[in-house]
Amino acid sequence: MNIADLESLKQMLIDWTLEQGFQDVRITDTNLSEHAPRYQSWLSAGYHGDMGYLARNVDKRLHPERLVEETCRVIVARMDYLPADTQPLQVLEDPECGYISRYATGRDYHKVVRRRLARIADRLNEAVRPFDHRYRAFTDSAPVLEKALSVKAGHGWVGRNSLVLNEKAGSWFFLGEIYTNLPLPVDEPQQTDRCGACKACLNVCPTDAILDNRTIDARRCISYLTIENKGPIPETLRGAIGNRIYGCDDCQLYCPWNRDAPTTRETDFQPRPPLFDASLETLFSWSEDEFNRATEGTAMRRIGYEQWQRNIAVAMGNAPFSQAKVDALNARLPHVSPLVAEHIRWALDQLLSKNAER
Ligand code: SF4
Ligand code: SF4
Repeated sequence: MNIADLESLKQMLIDWTLEQGFQDVRITDTNLSEHAPRYQSWLSAGYHGDMGYLARNVDKRLHPERLVEETCRVIVARMDYLPADTQPLQVLEDPECGYISRYATGRDYHKVVRRRLARIADRLNEAVRPFDHRYRAFTDSAPVLEKALSVKAGHGWVGRNSLVLNEKAGSWFFLGEIYTNLPLPVDEPQQTDRCGACKACLNVCPTDAILDNRTIDARRCISYLTIENKGPIPETLRGAIGNRIYGCDDCQLYCPWNRDAPTTRETDFQPRPPLFDASLETLFSWSEDEFNRATEGTAMRRIGYEQWQRNIAVAMGNAPFSQAKVDALNARLPHVSPLVAEHIRWALDQLLSKNAER
């Protein structure tokens, strides 16, 4: 394949990617040597907590060609996901409501993004026949150093909140990658660090999880504590979790680059009522069947009913006292696992001590 063929292939690829609902696509090579030391020191410090998968296959994560043989380029696509009109700040500030991270209230992005990437990869494959095309599409599904690849490709910079920030799009987007052995023309990193003197994310992070070096101590991060963490939530952090029952968006909500961030038009990412603004008591009252029905096809399904109850119990303990909450928690106590029971007891202690102080 000559250079002109590769240039026109890249243009077709851009067109197909936009047709599939992505907002941007850029291409980079596989040399991650500049980004490797930071990842390795983050792991060595143990900041990944119990997410052992992040410490496995590090070699493949840092060397894309070892994950998919012969890979020489990574196509990185970006898709906005922020649903319009879900009033995240209002819900976050209402202690009677459960706050769910805005990426999770619609259809599971893994399915949506991967399916679209697969279509693009198939078209690419058809277009280059009989070239022996080796490729694979990923979205948050394999040892891929996604943020580093997207920065290298020119999608933005890593902000102090550790997310990729883009001048036009902020940070409310998903990333997906296609590894390929096609030597497509690469894009250059474009956006230099625009955080400047801002430290809004550090200041608002409820659990002080943001480190100085643009990484996160996942063990303190509410996203980790409420989603990845299968065990008890450390008592010292429960109060700071507030009403966040699945993930946390604070370091995006208060980032100035997100002030005018675009919202998504994807129907798949539209929030399912009542996931984005339901009361804690309503959500806590759900049976396992109701939880499964309400979360079917969403990323929230992965936490399961036990973690769901655990998280809501913590949020109820952080809410203002009401006899209805105490009654709901007490009524559930005999029917739950020891893990959930311990969090319910904690919540009852919090509520009863608030009542005693009134
Ligand atoms: S997601 Fe929340 S807890 Fe985690 S770093 Fe951002 S603000 Fe802090
Ligand atoms: S809040 Fe400020 S420091 Fe944090 S990522 Fe956004 S611009 Fe950077």
